[in-house]
Amino acid sequence: MLRFAPSPTGDMHIGNLRVALLNHILSKQTGQPLTVRIEDTDSSRNITDKDKDIVHILNLFAIDYDKVIFQSDSLKFHTKLALDLLVKDRAFNCFCSSETIADDREKAKADKKPYRYTDFCLNLSPQTKLQCNAPFSVRIKRPTENIKFTDNIKGDFEFEPYDVDSFIILREDKTPTYNFACAVDDMIGDISHIVRGEDHLSNTPKQIHIQRQLGYDKIITYTHLPMILDINTGKKMSKRDETSTVQSLLDMGFLPVAIANYLVLLGYNPPKEIFTIEEAISWYDIGKISKAPAKFDIDKLKFINKQHIKLFDDMRLSKIIGYADTDIGALAKLYLEECDTTVEIGRKIDKIFKTNKTNDDISESLNTMQNCIRSAPYFDEFSQFKKYLMDKTKLKGKDFFSSMRFALTGAVSGPNISEIYPLIKNYLGEIV
Ligand code: GLU
Repeated sequence: MLRFAPSPTGDMHIGNLRVALLNHILSKQTGQPLTVRIEDTDSSRNITDKDKDIVHILNLFAIDYDKVIFQSDSLKFHTKLALDLLVKDRAFNCFCSSETIADDREKAKADKKPYRYTDFCLNLSPQTKLQCNAPFSVRIKRPTENIKFTDNIKGDFEFEPYDVDSFIILREDKTPTYNFACAVDDMIGDISHIVRGEDHLSNTPKQIHIQRQLGYDKIITYTHLPMILDINTGKKMSKRDETSTVQSLLDMGFLPVAIANYLVLLGYNPPKEIFTIEEAISWYDIGKISKAPAKFDIDKLKFINKQHIKLFDDMRLSKIIGYADTDIGALAKLYLEECDTTVEIGRKIDKIFKTNKTNDDISESLNTMQNCIRSAPYFDEFSQFKKYLMDKTKLKGKDFFSSMRFALTGAVSGPNISEIYPLIKNYLGEIV
């Protein structure tokens, strides 16, 4: 079983979509079902309807899942299994206040040491616990041996007990922490391979420790995907960066098939650069992703987007930009010379169909041209159309060409009019 486990705490980041796409590819390659698990147990961070947005994006990208489950529906299992650990003395009640913990963290920071729990509540007697009225969280005891695992990309890892630490599994309100809920749900879900971002590498020994303490010894395969860095700053893509959410890229006019192509290409040396996810399923090998962080390059995405727009069916492309005609789809493709996205192309096409086109620099000749086109008969060939306009308008040179181009396209420059004409000749009435 595979799972994609997003938190409904914000807009879906491109890194998350990459995780979802690679889980989808793996699911198709191995025949294992992929479950979407919405990790919603930290209610203070949940944002209403973000779960729906995530599922909408997964559907848009044709990511196949068997079901969508909510982690909060398993709270009874989290509580029960935490209780089991307490009963077996593998976990303990921790009465340390959040202020004390915050102070300890500050001290560790000042000493330039990583924060570790002080073990203050590790060995409290039952009497002390009974007498204590303070709220308590539940911590799992740190392991007694190193925790080892192998990452599919980065190789072997080994964490010492001190680094795994005695960490909180139930908060004071008795809700499970991310690591506990995740480890339990991966166990209950019989997950065999976890694909997720590299930012979770340090959580993996904690989750393995939880599972081992619960008596679960299945070896899960881990693939932690290297980070996606901003190509300009070399830093992790900021959530505020407008190109870092999937929705913003869609709003900018990048096609889902192009975004998916680009994200699967990141950190990989594929047999071809332009492909669909269907094709990638036949050759992609998740273990061959580069260890180095990937760089998000919007220019490369633009290039890939253009290639997919070229391959798109004319009618589909036309519908994406708000029309429904194969000629408009073909016309849209002429604008790939100067546009990278469907939104940019859509603006150019809208200009063509904008009524009352005016241009102060050429207002007189434009007026003459528009009147002439309005009363012109239908010409199949551009050369005849042009000849007719030349004869009738008596305009010459730049005056003629600028006013003809502007009357037909609402712009002073663009693709060859001789290529545009056959695709708009049936709409001249609307255009002028
Ligand atoms: N909910 C976590 C996140 O969105 C994912 C955890 C995981 O895949 O284990 O980052």
